[in-house]
Amino acid sequence: MNRFSGQTAVVTGAASGIGAASALRLAAEGASVVVSDIADEAGEAVAAAIRADGGRAAYVRCDVSSEEDWTALRDETHARFGPVAVLHSNAFIHTSGAAHELPVAVWDREMAVNLRALYLATRTFLDDLRAERGSLVATSSVHADFGLPGYPVYAAAKGGMCALVRQLAVEYGPEVRFNSVLPGPILTEVWNDVDEEGRRLSADATALARLGRPEEVASAVAFLASADAAYITGTNLVVDGGWTVKKDSK
Ligand code: NAD
Repeated sequence: MNRFSGQTAVVTGAASGIGAASALRLAAEGASVVVSDIADEAGEAVAAAIRADGGRAAYVRCDVSSEEDWTALRDETHARFGPVAVLHSNAFIHTSGAAHELPVAVWDREMAVNLRALYLATRTFLDDLRAERGSLVATSSVHADFGLPGYPVYAAAKGGMCALVRQLAVEYGPEVRFNSVLPGPILTEVWNDVDEEGRRLSADATALARLGRPEEVASAVAFLASADAAYITGTNLVVDGGWTVKKDSK
């Protein structure tokens, strides 16, 4: 498949995990990809891997909570590859702790990186996406739809992303499509702290009885970003191996 031939894509949080898989997938399907993150070395490595494979890619640093960084990202992307048709807003942080114990600064920082970034992404690249009849895909989470003890700000941010995606789809509908993916348990670096037993329990909680791979989310992102999803907008697509539909899985 070469669904993104001649198009430019930007992926945030692309130095590892789902973002890296998305960058590799979009590049493999013909996109010129800006790999963006704050982890410079790992981000450079992802861009280098794409180029080594014959693709077009560059690493550009952007802290997604910073409006100035978004502007610089747009300018650098234009200079290298031209206007953006595909934007995957994926970077995140998460902090655990009960709501009454979380410092306000932690709440604000996590909302800025996880939720406000989607608003900044849209503001920054709307002209491009309109001109290209493009598509934005956000990475939310299944935790947008149910409570998980210890993750109040993560759940609020991810739920907010789903609501914002619906809103943006309606707002800019005729020209730009907005969708999100809601991953379940996907084996990335965020699982490094979870031991074998914890992983097994999470795997068993899915209908498919296994953890997902980042590439399995990337393929959903590529679908939503592509013309194959030309009549899909405002959708929050669950990619969780059947975790949320399995009784007692939560
Ligand atoms: P990851 O830690 O591998 O990747 C996250 C990336 O975001 C990192 O490269 C990190 O450097 C980058 N990042 C952090 N703060 C940033 C900032 N301020 N600006 C720019 N980049 C920043 O994690 P992942 O598992 O690949 O997660 C990707 C997305 O998938 C996230 O939105 C996460 O909420 C979502 N998700 C993951 C899972 C899972 O089980 N892995 C489940 C549900 C949702």
